[in-house]
Amino acid sequence: MPGTLITVTAPSGAGKTTLVREMLRHDPNLRLSVSYTTRAPRAGEEDGREYHFIETGRFLEMRDVGGFAEWAEVHGNYYGTSRAWLAEQLGQGRDTMLEIDWQGAAQVREAFPESVSVFVLPPSLDELENRLRGRGTDSEETIALRLRAAIDEMRHVQEFAYVIINDRLQDTIAELAVVLQAARLRYPNQHKRYPQYFSFLEQDH
Ligand code: 5GP
Repeated sequence: MPGTLITVTAPSGAGKTTLVREMLRHDPNLRLSVSYTTRAPRAGEEDGREYHFIETGRFLEMRDVGGFAEWAEVHGNYYGTSRAWLAEQLGQGRDTMLEIDWQGAAQVREAFPESVSVFVLPPSLDELENRLRGRGTDSEETIALRLRAAIDEMRHVQEFAYVIINDRLQDTIAELAVVLQAARLRYPNQHKRYPQYFSFLEQDH
């Protein structure tokens, strides 16, 4: 029973972290990939939980032997999804979610045509700015840079199969659950899940 692959992309400030956490609680069959990154851990982050934190040299080695199903450089750091882990999850029939940037999502769409890509937008630009300001301690210059980065990411929204506006969290979770359900029912996924059914239809009767 192969699992279904879904990518979730959002600019920082769209509320993606909370959404992903709630989505995992909502759907016990869903797994979230823990990416590899060369960025330094932030306060409260734990190796193996938020990310596998590795040195740049090791990242490049893994990349060069095809260890990543997708990878990208984001704000000067490398990020990638383990190819072996992903294959294992999907092979065991687990629905798997990747929380990755637009560049990674493009690679996944190409390599896994049966996957589904979702872009999460903040409810408005004002709200985005409020959320980016949220921490209260950052300079105007830092906030302007973050806002610019968020808008640059949002310019890729049209490349995605589905767009969800994260206004009320409960509605957003319900919408993401519907997308996942629809993804499971896509022909390539159903064909892999029920091969006997389709091989019967493909024979002459
Ligand atoms: P942060 O460093 O703030 O946790 O993440 C920065 C950006 O990197 C976010 O847009 C996040 O979605 C993206 N990202 C995290 N992991 C991966 C990954 O494995 N691959 C790609 N392509 N992007 C990732």
